[in-house]
Amino acid sequence: MAIEFELSKGMQTARDMARMFAETYVRPYALESDQLCGPHPKFIEACKQFRLGTGQLSGVDGVDAPKTPKPGKLRETNRMRLVAAEELAWGDATAALNMPGPGLGGPPVQFTGTPEQRERFMSVFKPDEYKFGAYALTEPDAGSDAKNLKTLCRKEGDVWVLNGSKIYITNGKRAEWTVVFATIDPALGRAGHRTFVVEKGTPGFSCPKVEKKMGLRASETAEQVFEECRVPAENLLGGEAHYEAKSKGGFKTAMKTFDATRPLVAVMAVGIARAAYEIARDWVQEHYALSQHTHRYHRLVDTLCEMEHDIRTARLLSYKAAYLLDRELPNAKESSMSKAYAGSMVQRVTSQAIELLGPEGVREHRLVEKLYRDQKVYDIFEGTGQIQRLVISRRLFANARD
Ligand SMILES: Cc1cc2nc3c(=O)[nH]c(=O)nc-3n(C[C@H](O)[C@H](O)[C@H](O)COP(=O)(O)OP(=O)(O)OC[C@H]3O[C@@H](n4cnc5c(N)ncnc54)[C@H](O)[C@@H]3O)c2cc1C
Repeated sequence: MAIEFELSKGMQTARDMARMFAETYVRPYALESDQLCGPHPKFIEACKQFRLGTGQLSGVDGVDAPKTPKPGKLRETNRMRLVAAEELAWGDATAALNMPGPGLGGPPVQFTGTPEQRERFMSVFKPDEYKFGAYALTEPDAGSDAKNLKTLCRKEGDVWVLNGSKIYITNGKRAEWTVVFATIDPALGRAGHRTFVVEKGTPGFSCPKVEKKMGLRASETAEQVFEECRVPAENLLGGEAHYEAKSKGGFKTAMKTFDATRPLVAVMAVGIARAAYEIARDWVQEHYALSQHTHRYHRLVDTLCEMEHDIRTARLLSYKAAYLLDRELPNAKESSMSKAYAGSMVQRVTSQAIELLGPEGVREHRLVEKLYRDQKVYDIFEGTGQIQRLVISRRLFANARD
């Protein structure tokens, strides 16, 4: 399959804009927002000033429906998101998660929502406001095993009543609305799944806990509880017809989201790794007379080469997954490959960066220390490394494609 290695003009513009934003409004506040355990006020101000409230720069917006490319041109929305997301993550691992907009809740509303639902839920996000959407799949007994949902939903007249709880939900407390996955009957497995948009303030919906984490501290991760939570029938994504037509419609909505977002998470890991690599490279250059060809220095340069090689490999894998998405081709295997590789790559590279700095690397005021703490989640959320490898292995022998 043909693939271009050059960034198009559009992609270059997206990268340059995101880079400017990351250099000016993200990186300078990264350490402080880690201590604040939330986005820095200057970052919030900049998001409003640059009218980013619908999430365009985050790469995880899902706002724009697929655009028809000009004749002879390929769609490149997803690759554009990738180049921007790498820059933001280079600035701070939490930047994309703190960028306003529907976040991970965007793709399911776009893929499955009716035109009225898309209009209603997406219009909540205004360019000059700082508001969020969220996506709630994970439960105490269902994360990797997504089909095992226990959050129950039952129809009562013109409302659905939800009971259950969700954990580790990004922006789960501050979100204006959350896409919530529930089941009419756990015994039905995937066929029982239904997808709702639950709005902030709905009676019976609460967020009792915000997690304290090792890394990604500036990103909110919350528990959500539904107790006889009454959701209007018109908030069932896609309407009843969607689940009648597709018996596993709810489960497919959850998984389709990941095909689009896993390459993004992968490329954010690339941004974090690149940040660590640059710190290590500058440190080595500053502290060692590399022109003296001692064995020790060869080893330092070797490590830098390995790091760069690893980063580039991960970037190409994520670009390939997004390229397939842009062509509306199946990409589940490539998407999982990019996420699995980047999740382990970023751990290797940030660890190597700390090794190169020596004890200086683990000091609290050093960005590389924060990068090492932040990176771990990139191998956990949106499916752990092990789960990505399961997805890949299922596809290795069936319909093999390059
Ligand atoms: C900071 C953060 C933000 C998050 N944001 C969100 C969010 O916005 N929305 C949301 O829905 N979820 C979110 N999550 C949850 C995350 O997606 C899950 O924690 C993750 O998918 C793992 O699922 P689990 O918690 O059920 O772990 P488990 O499934 O219990 O996994 C525990 C371990 O067992 C391994 N394992 C499980 N099953 C298998 C298997 N079959 N084969 C091999 N190994 C296996 C896993 O890889 C893992 O190492 C977030 C998590 C974190 C940490």
